[in-house]
This record gives sequence, structure tokens and C-alpha cells, in this order.
Amino acid sequence: MSPAKKSPARKRATTRTKSAAKRGATRKTATARKPSATRTTVKKGSATTSSARPLAEYNRKRDFARTKEPEGRVPKKHGKALQFVIQKHAASHLHYDFRLELDGVMKSWAVPKGPSLDPSVRRLAMEVEDHPISYNTFEGTIPEGEYGGGTVMLWDRGTYEAEDGGGVESLRRGYAKGDLKLTLAGKRLRGSWVLVRMKRPGRPQWLLIKHRDGAADPTRDVTEDHTTSVVSRRTMESIAAGKGGERAWRSNR
Ligand code: MN
Repeated sequence: MSPAKKSPARKRATTRTKSAAKRGATRKTATARKPSATRTTVKKGSATTSSARPLAEYNRKRDFARTKEPEGRVPKKHGKALQFVIQKHAASHLHYDFRLELDGVMKSWAVPKGPSLDPSVRRLAMEVEDHPISYNTFEGTIPEGEYGGGTVMLWDRGTYEAEDGGGVESLRRGYAKGDLKLTLAGKRLRGSWVLVRMKRPGRPQWLLIKHRDGAADPTRDVTEDHTTSVVSRRTMESIAAGKGGERAWRSNR
């Protein structure tokens, strides 16, 4: 590194840009800072690894002045059971977002057809950016034109664990290996499931499959059986219309 790059002036500029990003700077601010932003491009790009800056991709994709989605922050360890959530999301294409808590974030997959209780059915699950744990209570409408614009319903939620009882270490191993065996304890999804990563280039694609157990049921379509919010009982239409809004159902948390 040249001595010039270590100058205090540059250091200050980098710090300022970073903290602005942390506060969830609006697009306007980002545009206004364009000249200095060019200089920090490398720095920002190198920080996208999840270990260095968790939720950086999540925060970068959203304008928190426009969407009511929560800003991405990693909470302090709470030691409670791991959470899972499924959000039905009527974006440009309807899908179900399957999210599993792991190491302070929600690992996330977009499942176009949603989960199936039939063990012979494999549902495509496209891995997307990690989401904050605080996203687990988000239900509402993301404005059109914003990232993921459309209605979001809390379709299921609960806790989960590694199927082999090996705890977080087993889940980390399974995620890294692309063979994640889970036991879900939700309202609508229960029992044993697996996420298997396919060997394909590009963003990882997985398959979500129900294992054979007492909760398996090839005769039912679970996404058709349940079309209302697991939390607020609202339909997609009433969420979109803003009826029985977040204050109504968040009050009893
Ligand atoms: Mn989504």
C-alpha cells in the first residue's frame, strides 16, 4: 500500500461513508456522495462476505426510507431455540420465502411453489441473501418499484433444530455441505425436512423435500389448505389493503 492510501483524510472519508451506510442512508444521499463513493467501491465490495459484514447485501438492496421492512442488524446472542419463518410473498412472481435462523441471521430461500407435504415432491428453493432475525415479524406491503415490491404474509413460523440433535454445529455443517436436515415445529409445517443443494453454477439452488414421517401427507396441498396469515389471520388481499394492520397484531407480542 502506498503511504497516500493510509492518509488520515482517506481514513475519515471511509469511516464517514461506512457509518452513513449503517444508518440506512437514502438513495438521495448515496447519489449526492457519488464522487467519494467511487473511492470506496473496492472496500465495500470486499466486505460482502457474510462473516465480515453480515446482512450487507440485504441492507444494500433496500431503501429504508421507502420500505417498512426492518434494517438488517445482528442481535446479541439470546440462547433461545432457533426460529424459522415462511413468508408468502406476492412479488413479480409469487413465492414462499423459507427462512432459518443460523448464527444471528435468517438463511433464506425463495421457494416458487411453496412447501409440499408429499415426500415424493422436490420443491426448488433458490438461496437469496441472509435476512435479519427482525424480519420474522414483518407482514405488510413493500412499495412497488422497491426491491421485492409486493405483499408479504407470515405464512408459518415456529422453531427448528438439526434432525440429528447435533445442534448448531450440525446445522452449520449441513449448510456448508449442502445437505441440511431439519425438524420443524411450526403451526403448519412440522416434522422432518431436508434442503439439498444442487451442483449448478451461479447462485445456489436447493431442493426442499419432506421426509417420510407422521407429518407427511401426499393427499393434501398445504399451501391451498392455508391461505391466511398464521399471525394476523389476514388474507393477502386484506394485507395489501392495509386492513387490521401491524399495530393490531403486533400489540400482543
Ligand atoms: Mn421474497
